[in-house]
Amino acid sequence: MKRKAVFPGSFDPFTIGHELIVRRALNLFDEIIIGIGINIEKKHLFPLEVRQKWIEEIFASESKIKVMTYNMLTVDFCRQQGARFILRGLRTSADFEYERIIGQINRQLGEFEIETVYLLTLPEHTYISSTFVREVIKYKGDIRKFVPENIARDIMQNWY
Ligand code: ADP
Repeated sequence: MKRKAVFPGSFDPFTIGHELIVRRALNLFDEIIIGIGINIEKKHLFPLEVRQKWIEEIFASESKIKVMTYNMLTVDFCRQQGARFILRGLRTSADFEYERIIGQINRQLGEFEIETVYLLTLPEHTYISSTFVREVIKYKGDIRKFVPENIARDIMQNWY
């Protein structure tokens, strides 16, 4: 059976922290689906299609990675895709507390068939978050150290 994982998130925008978690997880799984959750309650800075296109560009040459959007519970999306694992990144103890709750809820909802796997972020990526990147973007700052090159280029050329 193929070891498939879903990496769920808003990725508004995708950062180098996210990218490295996915690249490291390639050693663990046969296939990784980067799942962009559609959450109409949340106000996003970048449209869904743009976020998806950016991530697809980054992993264009990586056949083991797919980028999809979904509008349902993450565990239901996993079942639909035949994925037994949820991948998440951990930066800080605050992340841990938040992830602990989601992880335990998902474990119940997934009827103990879906496991969440956590990778610790690199120390130099612990301060990088999409929230902080959006703040820098708001004031047209230089984001090249925080997001993959294609995203930095597009935002700084077309959104500033
Ligand atoms: P959400 O909206 O679910 O919080 P995010 O897009 O912010 O989604 O993040 C998705 C996943 O990536 C989460 O597991 C988060 O902890 C992880 N993550 C976010 N930033 C980093 C980073 N700098 N390094 C490693 N993992 C990260």
